[in-house]
Amino acid sequence: MSCQRLELVEERILRACERAGRKRGEVMLLGVSKSQPPEKIRKLFTCGLKSFGENRVQEFLKKYEELEDLSIDWHFIGRLQSNKVKYILDKVSLIHSLDRESLLEELQKRAEKAGKVQHVLIEVNVGCEETKGGVEPSELKGFFEKVLKAQNLKVLGLMCIPPYREDPQEVRPYFRTLRRLKEELEIEFSVSLPHLSMGMSHDFEVAVEEGATIVRIGTLLFGERS
Ligand SMILES: *Cc1c(COP(=O)(O)O)cnc(C)c1O
Repeated sequence: MSCQRLELVEERILRACERAGRKRGEVMLLGVSKSQPPEKIRKLFTCGLKSFGENRVQEFLKKYEELEDLSIDWHFIGRLQSNKVKYILDKVSLIHSLDRESLLEELQKRAEKAGKVQHVLIEVNVGCEETKGGVEPSELKGFFEKVLKAQNLKVLGLMCIPPYREDPQEVRPYFRTLRRLKEELEIEFSVSLPHLSMGMSHDFEVAVEEGATIVRIGTLLFGERS
């Protein structure tokens, strides 16, 4: 079995870290396994990749069951409907896509009921695109304050899906914006936010240079989605 795809991605992350004067250990590689069959996840797991992200609850639950014999660290990275929160809360270590008050309330309610503290990232709509989820940058502080008050949620940082640009260098300003927003929150609220979830297959190196701590990579690891 070949682990070549993973090795190539690892090598590129390492080189981006070196360019930025960062340690490889500062960046977590999350395999985005949406639309990919469980067997491929199993293979990558055997190659050494332990963390995977899914974006649809139904699909995630199926794979979760099928791969229960592996100790996969699952993340949820997609748009999350409030009525589905209850299905995933005991199965994911980090939810990347907290983006609105109704979801915040449901997450808090369910986490409290389960007697756990759920780790979350706030998704920010850095490109202010109408078609995308995420909190608008101008509303981030107000929203963050509410998340801080939720006793059973712990916010670890920010996530973004920037606008697509052919040239990844043109995405750099959006990554910078996310980092700046994170730093502003840390100062304003005297908290430490360890995570910036940013960078996908075609722009992760730029994201690493701009401070990403989690890169979410699908196509490069798995091949094209069916
Ligand atoms: C699909 C997806 C990715 C990965 O995209 P690739 O371009 O295949 O690497 C990352 N993040 C989110 C939120 C996604 O939905």
